[in-house]
Amino acid sequence: MAALLGCIADDFTGATDLAGMLQQAGMRTIQIIGVPTSPLSAGLDADAIVIALKTRTAPVQQAIDDSKASLKWLQAAGCRQMYFKYCSTFDSTAEGNIGPVTDALMETIGTDFTIACPAFPENQRTVYKGHLFVGNALLAESGMRDHPLTPMTDSNLVRVLQAQTRGLVGLIEHSIVAAGTEAIRREIRRLRGQGVKTAIVDAICNADLIQIGAACSDLPMVTAGSGLAIGIPQNFIGQGSLSPMNPAVDPTPATSGLRAILSGSCSQASQAQLNDLLSRGIPGFALDPLVLASSDTALESVVNEVMAWVAPRLESGPVVIYATAAVDKVKQIQSVLGAERAGAVVETALAAIAGRLIELGVRQLIVAGGETSGAVVTALNIDRLQIHRQIDPGVPWTVSLNKPSVALALKSGNFGSVDFFTKAWDSAP
Ligand code: ADP
Repeated sequence: MAALLGCIADDFTGATDLAGMLQQAGMRTIQIIGVPTSPLSAGLDADAIVIALKTRTAPVQQAIDDSKASLKWLQAAGCRQMYFKYCSTFDSTAEGNIGPVTDALMETIGTDFTIACPAFPENQRTVYKGHLFVGNALLAESGMRDHPLTPMTDSNLVRVLQAQTRGLVGLIEHSIVAAGTEAIRREIRRLRGQGVKTAIVDAICNADLIQIGAACSDLPMVTAGSGLAIGIPQNFIGQGSLSPMNPAVDPTPATSGLRAILSGSCSQASQAQLNDLLSRGIPGFALDPLVLASSDTALESVVNEVMAWVAPRLESGPVVIYATAAVDKVKQIQSVLGAERAGAVVETALAAIAGRLIELGVRQLIVAGGETSGAVVTALNIDRLQIHRQIDPGVPWTVSLNKPSVALALKSGNFGSVDFFTKAWDSAP
C-alpha cells in the first residue's frame, strides 16, 4: 500500500516530533534518517513517511538538493501530499532555508501555492496577524532573539519569509481562519488570483489548525511546524483512504532485552530530569569531557570503564550514563576544550557506549539530546524508525527497522516532563 503523506523535516528531533504527532492522529508513521537511498521494504505498511534531514542551517544549495532528492523519493513512494516541516519558531536566517527550500519543492511538484503555518498552540507558539508569539512574548522579544545559529529578530513572518523567497508572500488572517474551512478556501483562491505563492496563516488554538488542515486537503504541499499535523490526517480519513490506527496500540511486537539511559543534553529540562532520576537512587556514571579529551587513548579507556561499571547493573533496573552538566560547568569545560571539541568527545563516547550496550543485549535505549541522538543513531547504523506510542509531547518511542531491532526514545533537550526518564523506562515497547 502506498503512503499517503510524505514529510520532509529540516532537523532530526523535529522529524520525530512530527512523526509522533501523526502517529497520535492515527497515521502509521515511519521515520527515515537522511536522504533515503533504497525503497521501503516490501510489506511495510506506512500511511506517513517522515524524512529527517539536517538542513535547517546547512548551506542553502545543500538544503535545496537534499530536500528535492527526498521529495522525489517520496513521490516515487506514491505519497499524495507533501509536508515540509520546520521549527514552530520559524528558525531560519536571512538567506533561508525555509524560503528557498519551499520555492524549490513547489517548483519540483509543479504547484503555484502553499501555506506557511508554524503555529503550535499546545507548545505556546501562536500566530496572529502574521506575528509569531512564543508564550506571551513576540518572537523577536523571546529567547529566540539570541539563538546562536538562527537568531529571530523580526516577529512579522510575512516580512521574514518575503526576505527569503522569490514568490509573493500573503497572509490569511485569523478572522478568516475563525470563519472556518470554506472561508479559508475562498481566501486561498483570492490570494492565488493576486499572485501570492505562499500565505502565512494565523492560528491561535487547535480548532484553528483543524480548520486550516481541512482547507488544505487539495494542496499538493503544505509547509508548517508539527502543530498542523493535528489537522491533516482527517482529510485522508474523509476521503476514505485512511483507516486510523489506535495510537495506544503499538504497530510492531515488543522488543525484549535490557534497557539503559544515555544523556548528552545539557538543556535545563534534561538537567532537571537527570536530577529527578538520580534523586530516586538510580545508579549513574558521569562522563567528564576533560578526562575523555586528556589523551589519545583516554576515550577508549573511559568507555571500557563505563562498560565494566554498567554490565553488572543492567539486569537490576534503570541505569544512566551521562555528560549532562549545569551551565557554569559546561562553560568551564568549553573554555578549556572549546565547545566543538567538548561536544565531539562526549558524542563520540556516548555513541561508542551505545554500540557496546547493544552488543551486551540492550534493546531499549533512552537518549537525551538532539545531537547526541543523531550520534547514537548513526553509530548504530540505524536509518529507519517505526513510530510507537508517545511518552511526552514531541517524544514518541520508536523501534528501528534495521537489525537488530532496537527501541529508542530520542528526546530533544527541552522536551519532556521532569519524570521523563522513569516514564520512558516504564513505557518501553
Ligand atoms: P540538546 O538537545 O539539549 O541541545 P544536544 O545533544 O543536541 O542536546 O547537544 C548537547 C551538546 O553538548 C552535545 O554536543 C554534547 O556532546 C555536549 N555536551 C554534553 N555534555 C557536555 C559537557 N558536560 N560539557 C560540554 N559539552 C557537553
